[in-house]
Formats: sequence, C-alpha cells, structure tokens
Amino acid sequence: MKTIRLDLKPARWLACKILGQVTPSVYWSRLSCLRLREVDRPALPGDDWVRIRPLLGGICGTDIGAILQRSHPASILRCFTRFPIDLGHEGVGVIEEVGKGVAGWDTGQRVIVEPMLSCGPRRIDPACPRCRAGQFSLCENLSEGALPRGVMIGTNHFTGGTWGESLVAHQSQLFAVPDSVDDETATLIDPIACAVHAVLRHTPAAGQRVIVIGAGIVGLGVVAALHTLAPEAEVTLIARYPHQEELGRRFGAADVIRSKRGEKKADRYQEVADRVGGKRFDAMFGNQALSGGYDVVYDCIGTGESLTDAMKFVHGRGTVVECATPTITVVDTTPLWFAEVSVIGCYGRCVERLNGQEMHTYEVVLSLLQSRRLDLTGLLTHTFRLEQYREALGTIVQRSRSGLVKAAFDHRRL
Ligand SMILES: [Zn+2]
Ligand SMILES: [Zn+2]
Repeated sequence: MKTIRLDLKPARWLACKILGQVTPSVYWSRLSCLRLREVDRPALPGDDWVRIRPLLGGICGTDIGAILQRSHPASILRCFTRFPIDLGHEGVGVIEEVGKGVAGWDTGQRVIVEPMLSCGPRRIDPACPRCRAGQFSLCENLSEGALPRGVMIGTNHFTGGTWGESLVAHQSQLFAVPDSVDDETATLIDPIACAVHAVLRHTPAAGQRVIVIGAGIVGLGVVAALHTLAPEAEVTLIARYPHQEELGRRFGAADVIRSKRGEKKADRYQEVADRVGGKRFDAMFGNQALSGGYDVVYDCIGTGESLTDAMKFVHGRGTVVECATPTITVVDTTPLWFAEVSVIGCYGRCVERLNGQEMHTYEVVLSLLQSRRLDLTGLLTHTFRLEQYREALGTIVQRSRSGLVKAAFDHRRL
C-alpha cells in the first residue's frame, strides 16, 4: 500500500534545518526525511482489531510541525515516539476487515477513530489511573502492553495512518458516523473535538470576556464551541487573514482583531488594552505589560510569544487555556506570579461530563452536529491526492494566498 512516511535521519534533518530557513520546500524535497512509499499493509495486532480503508485523511498542525521540524530535538514527545512514522491521525474511513473477537462492528461501516493508543488498545488490565478516569489522552502506559511504543495512530509505524491506504484500529477506538454527517464534516470532528475539549476544560461564565488567539482550525473551533457551550460569553478573536476574520465572525466572534505580519508588539497590546479598558506599559527591549485584561484567554497558536501574550492579556487571577502544540521555547512567566494567572493545559480528547452525561468528546461533537447546533461547512477548504503531497504542503505553508483553513488527503479521488 501507499503511505506517507516520515523518518528521522540526523544528516538529512540537519541539512533541512539549515536550508529550510531560506526555502521551506526543502522539508518535502528529496533531501528531506519525508517520502510517499510503497509498504506492507499493517497486520491486525489482535483479534479485537479492525482494518480501515481511509476515505479522507486530515492534515493537522502537529503533522506540519513534525514535517517542518519545528519540535526541539529534546522534546519530551520523542520519549513516546519511535521513527519512522506513518502520518495521519485525523479522518474518516470504512471498515474493510474485522478480527474474530470484534463485537458490534462490521465491514462497510463508516467510522472515525480515536487515535490514542492508551491502555484499552494496549490490553492493559487494570488500566492506569488516568484511563480509569476517562482521561485516556493522558495515559501512563504509552510504551507498555501489547503494542510497541507510540502515542497514537499517525505517530508510529505499526498501525498505519490516515495518510496511507490502510490502517488498523482497536474496536474501542471506533465511532460510527451517522449518514447525516458527510465525509468532509466527519474529517473535521477530530480537530473540532480538541477545541470543544478546550472549552470544556474551562468554560467561561455568562458575561465573561474572552479572547481567542489564533484563527486556524483550532481557534475557529474554540470560537464555535464557545458560541454553542458558553453563548453568554463575549468573544474576541485575533486573526491574521481576511478569510479567517470572516469565518470567525460567522462562528460567533463578536469582535475580531486583525494582527499583521511584522506588526509592532506595542500596537497589538494597545488594541487589546483599548478593548478591555486596560492600560499598556512599555518595558525594555519592546517587552510589554498590560494592567487589566480579559477573564479567559485561549491560546490556539502555541508559540512562546503567543503563550506570553495570553498570560498578559488576562487580568489578575484570570485563566489561560493552552490549546495548541507547544515546544521548548522562551516565555515571559512573570504574570504567573505577578498576576496570579492560572494556566490550564488541554490535550486531545477524554470522556467529558456534560449536562450530567458522560460521553467521548467525539460524541459531544457528533451530537452538536446532529442537533444542528454546530455547522462546519466551509472549513475543509482544500483536498489533495496522496501523490500531490508536495503541492499540499506548499499550499498549507502559503495559506495567506490560498485561503486555506483545513486540508485533507482525499483517497476517494483517483
Ligand atoms: Zn490533529
Ligand atoms: Zn492508560
């Protein structure tokens, strides 16, 4: 089968790291560690697993981060990953083979797959305390049990990923897609679930003022989730491009601040200060301070600069929710102490508690879609065939020109 595989070869990694500063396309050139390859289909690891033929494979910011070598070589994520990896953890597919021990699933069913390879798929019994609490994204056994080391489908080489023609998943990872949800919408359920999870990790109270930093798929998802789950919060979005502003307003942002590439930090802080009636102060070397601020900030970018901004954009004892994939970086942590700011991390999905019910974050999104409280039309803007992966990556990197919000590989196209 064909799959997009990312390896880790130190000499190539170093060459790309240097040349990539000038020409980003080197990260998907012949010099890079990325290839479209012909490989054996992954075997079913047990009789309670199924084989899935992906229909669409979403391209996630974390995939792009891995391809563009954004993570630091000392990142702790490396402790739970073994290269090479067959990429793709988002998407929708059809079951095409069912193990003898599988109950309740059949070939031909359309499914989305919770990618985490936690205690359940690893057949670890009793499960770790985090999995027992329904927080399987925080599993403590990612290198134990019946499977090799690997955090999830799409970051290992034994399950296959959605950027390939076949993958395997444990029956506990499957969620049926109802007929009313089309393939394109189903592909968006995973990234939108991460945004819904962020809003459920900390839900603003009625009348609270909220700012969302970043208007990629997660930022827009957080705006949409706030509009549905905390409709009485007042939401401001920081977006870079006109199409992001338009979508942000459509999904419920009352106000949008447009950040421009190369803008002065002081101007950005002044815009925020003006909106919340705060006061801006200049520190040395362009560093900024703000007194007063929002009640809650969702950082959907995940750089040192965006986390720094987030901690300064909240008022004293305000809350920052970190929704993006962070890395080893420099952050001004003064507000943690000086403003008694709380920072809440959020990663992946879990068994959520909502309106007295327990449900997987995917099920929350599915129920919002089915009750028409959430409409994701227009977010999947670009699809590519696997063979077009270089064109896909080029388009994503230049999203200012392409109007791209979310892209996916479309295995249905010949
Ligand atoms: Zn993702
Ligand atoms: Zn676990």
